[in-house]
Amino acid sequence: FDQRDGWIWYDGQLVPWKDAQLHVLSHGLHYGSSVFEGERAYGGEIFKSTEHSERLKKSAQILDFEIPYSVAEIDAAKRLVLEKSGMKDAYLRPVAWRGSEMMGVAAQANKIHLAIAAWEWPSYFDPAEKMKGIRIDMAEYRRPDPATAPSAAKAAGLYMICTISKHKAERKGYADALMLDWQGRVAECTGANVFFIRDGIVHTPIADCFLDGITRRTVIDLAKRRGFEVAERRIMPDELPSFNECFITGTAAEVTPVSEIGPHKYQPGNMTKVLMDDYSAEVQPKSKAA
Ligand code: PMP
Repeated sequence: FDQRDGWIWYDGQLVPWKDAQLHVLSHGLHYGSSVFEGERAYGGEIFKSTEHSERLKKSAQILDFEIPYSVAEIDAAKRLVLEKSGMKDAYLRPVAWRGSEMMGVAAQANKIHLAIAAWEWPSYFDPAEKMKGIRIDMAEYRRPDPATAPSAAKAAGLYMICTISKHKAERKGYADALMLDWQGRVAECTGANVFFIRDGIVHTPIADCFLDGITRRTVIDLAKRRGFEVAERRIMPDELPSFNECFITGTAAEVTPVSEIGPHKYQPGNMTKVLMDDYSAEVQPKSKAA
């Protein structure tokens, strides 16, 4: 992945993809002082770009560092990468981290770096699989207590347990894993939020100890615009068999129906389809929208 052609915006300049390197003594690598974003461009326009840039800045602040670029500068840098790449539909990955000037837990003087890459990422899961719904395993790790970890940040360190959980699920033939939170409530998947439907009502866990996804908030708005009742609430795993439909949301996953969570089966149905279609319409560039 690091040897392709292309351009990466790196600390204020576009550099050839292969040259976008960092030192092995980077604090971000050793101590997890790194935050990132995942965004998509549709038809040449980055969906909710400013919200993503704001979240990136906020994530860094939660990890006690300040990205030395404004939200507007980050937005402009993302547009530049996209234009330079010549792609209209792309996935964008801004990442910010502490550099290598000091090595130790404390790294007050370390330079803060920001890089932005863009690449093609047509659909998170296999498209044929998407229509059938994906199969999800139950993860062993739980989302940590917000008193234990900076849960509101999209911080690299929080993904350690996601990668372990996703790998375990994939080895068993599942596409992803559903994580509970520290209190045993249903939380989210390893890179996406989760929704359920029962008797015409949309249910989703309260995002109080995991990422409140931008897609999650978009889908909640779309559901409300449709007149669907949305219940953000505490969902315990013993409720899983009672739901009719299930889907996950995320920038990469978009709206992806779920057919199974462990032993529980779901039938991707009408309401999931409506929200999938509404989301597809919503992400279209505003200049082209009717
Ligand atoms: N939870 C996790 C752990 C994620 O990695 C993501 C993807 N960024 C999400 C939820 C969904 O967030 P968003 O809709 O903002 O992409």
